Amino acid sequence: MNFLSQITGSFAMPAAENPTVAMMDAAYRHHGIDARYINCEVAPEKLGDAVRGARAMGWKGFNCSLPHKVSVIEHLDGLGESAAIMQAVNCAVLRDGRLIGENTDGKGFLKSLREIADPAGKQVLVFGAGGASRAICVELALAGAERITVVNRGKARGEELVKLVDTNTLANAEFLPWSSSFRIPGETDIIVNATSIGLYPDIDARLDIDPVSLTPGLVVADIIPNPPRTRLIEDAQARGCEVLDGLGMLVNQGIINIKYWTGVDANGAVMRAKLEEIFGL
Ligand code: NDP
Repeated sequence: MNFLSQITGSFAMPAAENPTVAMMDAAYRHHGIDARYINCEVAPEKLGDAVRGARAMGWKGFNCSLPHKVSVIEHLDGLGESAAIMQAVNCAVLRDGRLIGENTDGKGFLKSLREIADPAGKQVLVFGAGGASRAICVELALAGAERITVVNRGKARGEELVKLVDTNTLANAEFLPWSSSFRIPGETDIIVNATSIGLYPDIDARLDIDPVSLTPGLVVADIIPNPPRTRLIEDAQARGCEVLDGLGMLVNQGIINIKYWTGVDANGAVMRAKLEEIFGL
């Protein structure tokens, strides 16, 4: 039995109902992978002990969530390319006896986005500048997006992200302040909600944008996984935009994690079906 685990500090749900655990276990069962994905609550001051424990027990790897994504780095042996740029890790992988930190959040988003649009050469506008936005902006830039516009409530965080993308990638990045009833510039190809606006239980919350600027043909991606049909997705669909919900990112980062840990190409339909069952879709 191999253990592939999640080291987490902030899950509100008990493990039995945790959608990520259920999704990963569904994939393991479907492919007959002899492993378990278990949820471990780890206090920040015990993170080093937890990683040493994972090494001692021979785990193939683990995911880690907030607040460990940055602090875990000092306990690892190296970083993948995008994780090194972001300085944030959500997936550790045992390779030739070394624990390497990767970031599969942004890669998962990119994989799901590519099912409807290739970001290469495109103008992308991303709302939010937190950890998820950081991962998404770096991967979009590495995938050849021409311009990445970050719109964030807090100016300092937004400008810091723009500097990170500008310094480390070939994409042009710019920051725009989030003015009231924000108008999406007409030349935009893709917008992404990478804020936490709309996340359960605040399901009626809307981005402060001018709905008229959601024009037909615009690709609108929301990374909120719960509920998958956010107000943004509903509004965008009603206005003729092409939409992508947050389950796509969750499923695809899981697929990449499983590939890293086991080499298996996991079946995304099985994983998504499990999430849809949990969310009652
Ligand atoms: P962070 O806390 O790091 O960042 C939150 C971001 O949302 C910040 O940019 C913050 O702005 C902004 N924000 C929050 N509330 C408001 C508001 N009322 N008005 C305007 N801006 C607001 O969180 P993460 O980046 O880690 O996660 C963001 C979301 O992404 C979460 O809801 C999470 O569930 C989702 N997520 C989904 C994944 C998936 O697989 N689908 C994977 C990872 C995350 P400011 O800087 O001004 O505070």
